Amino acid sequence: MVMLQRFVFKRLRLFYSGNQEITKSLLTIFPAALLDGHRAAGHRAKSSLPDFKERTLIAVKPDGVQRHLVGQIIQRFEQRGFKLVGLKMLQVSEDLLSQHYCELRSKPFYPQLLHYMTSGPVVVMVWEGFKVVNTSRMMVGHTNPAEAKAGTVRGDFSFHISRNVVHASDSLEGAQREIQLWFENKELLTWDCCDQKLTCEEE
Ligand code: UDP
Ligand code: MG
Repeated sequence: MVMLQRFVFKRLRLFYSGNQEITKSLLTIFPAALLDGHRAAGHRAKSSLPDFKERTLIAVKPDGVQRHLVGQIIQRFEQRGFKLVGLKMLQVSEDLLSQHYCELRSKPFYPQLLHYMTSGPVVVMVWEGFKVVNTSRMMVGHTNPAEAKAGTVRGDFSFHISRNVVHASDSLEGAQREIQLWFENKELLTWDCCDQKLTCEEE
């Protein structure tokens, strides 16, 4: 203990003599205390960040593209405050679609769904933000437009389940799987949006 005290005293003396390197070595002596102090000082670890970095896949289906609804659908996500991190237009292959809808392959409507989804280009996007998966499902509305509330995309732009305009991932796991399926990593951007501090209080 005495040895330690002497050591710390010596280091402190050197510190006050202005040697920067000593500051560093002192920091390594008490890492745990520093960490606690850092937390106590209100610098919360960025543990809440993943929520804000949540991502989901949204696609304007061929009927939405043909009906010139792409802009209006993008606008809804923009005005809600979400951040666009990926966007492209493509003609979907049957192979990609069968992977996307792998859980629906045995459904009676699957052949029609395949035909519908490959009938023209789709616009596929990745949106990022707080609880974006859940919120975008609410914004998109019920699968069956006849039951979708007014104010939702499907409730405002469609009336039949066979042409429901838009796709939205239904869970965090689903979103991750679909994003990897439709996008390469290099097609997704990490960027700072200048309104970030205006849309929620920083944690
Ligand atoms: N679909 C259909 N008939 C049905 C159920 C679904 O044509 O009875 C189509 C519809 O386009 C729907 C898609 O299959 O959006 C995927 O179905 P899901 O149950 O995953 O609904 P979603 O997640 O799109 O709301
Ligand atoms: Mg679904």
